Amino acid sequence: MAEWQTLSDRVNSVAPSATLAVDSKAKAMKAAGVNVISYGAGEPNFPTPDYVVEAAAAACRDPKNHRYTPTSGLPQLRKAIAEKTLRDSGYEVSPDQVVVTNGGKQAVYEALQIIVNPGDEVIVPAPYWTTYPEAVRLAGGKPVIVFSGAENGFEPTVEALEAARTPRTKAIFINTPSNPTGAVFSEETLRAVGQWALEHHVWILSDEIYEHLTYDGEKTAYIGAVVPEVRDQLIVLNGVAKTYAMTGWRVGWLIGSVPVAKAAAKLQGHMTSNVADVCQQAAYTAVSGSLDAVAMMRKSFDKRRKAIVAGLNAVNGVTCRTPKGAFYAFADVTALLNRPIGNAGKTAKTSSDLAALLLDEGHVAAVPGEAFGAPGFLRFSYALADDDLAEGMRRFKQWVG
Ligand code: PLP
Repeated sequence: MAEWQTLSDRVNSVAPSATLAVDSKAKAMKAAGVNVISYGAGEPNFPTPDYVVEAAAAACRDPKNHRYTPTSGLPQLRKAIAEKTLRDSGYEVSPDQVVVTNGGKQAVYEALQIIVNPGDEVIVPAPYWTTYPEAVRLAGGKPVIVFSGAENGFEPTVEALEAARTPRTKAIFINTPSNPTGAVFSEETLRAVGQWALEHHVWILSDEIYEHLTYDGEKTAYIGAVVPEVRDQLIVLNGVAKTYAMTGWRVGWLIGSVPVAKAAAKLQGHMTSNVADVCQQAAYTAVSGSLDAVAMMRKSFDKRRKAIVAGLNAVNGVTCRTPKGAFYAFADVTALLNRPIGNAGKTAKTSSDLAALLLDEGHVAAVPGEAFGAPGFLRFSYALADDDLAEGMRRFKQWVG
């Protein structure tokens, strides 16, 4: 490639999405006729509820919905999001604090673009969702990774945050329930982090996209409710993808102070403008309706959660805590590294090597912990059919021996 063809430093600094990479390799193997069981994808395997699809179909037939909407979103959808926030999180926000985005992912991206200056540091508690550090880099910031292991239930501790804090610390991510660990942070953790952020003037980016997927009577706690004083420095990131099985519709939102919401709308006005009108109509029907569909999904996920944790712990050398939220099991596989494994007795030095071997030889796809700042682990999404889940576990166990 000639020098003039070199792509920007900005894009070259960003790593491709490892979760999408595993998923596409598994799909390519499937397309080539290999029977692969994939625990890679982070999306519910349920259809979007019928009444949501019907609302979208009706909206599609009406020409008035074939146009641009306000950049920040349809007024009725912003209002419904504000009402839903009061219902679920227990505190009031006004519709003009809400901006409807192209998925939760765009909300993450915009939040960082709004608050981060070049060289600012953003604390990313690990294990983290794979997009966070890359979105920080795209904003010119520096991700500061603070790892918290199974011994802390994968919840960040203020001692570790304080050790990582510098005069450049601008923001911290909180993601509960967590992708990839399934941890549901306690109120005590949120209180401690909220007070720490308040004291040190650190923005909080609270990703609440898995809020309705909790098990064993566990409930999502909301940092804006637990520490109300943080609301002026809080940006909530959320969307319809996981609660209503609507990953493909690409509707998310952010909630911040009015200046934050205005800044997000300004940015979005030059990027993607509004989210597709028909998708917003579908999201309006979902968000303003009941939570019955997610209650049904939660039941199925709960059954699979128990099955996968049992399946993983039955594999020699694998240990997996029981996750309390989301739809991921995060298994410690360090005992499988640096020893002959699988059909051909090959050796995996890292969890990345292990994931590659398991896919090639065992025809089972899981995402290596490296993608989440947690080498030594594999993430298994259990948002797949019961039979596939059982078959994949059988293969994994047999492959390890
Ligand atoms: N946040 C977390 C923690 C996620 O796992 C995801 C999707 O996997 C998202 C945000 C973004 O979801 P979407 O852009 O599909 O709304």
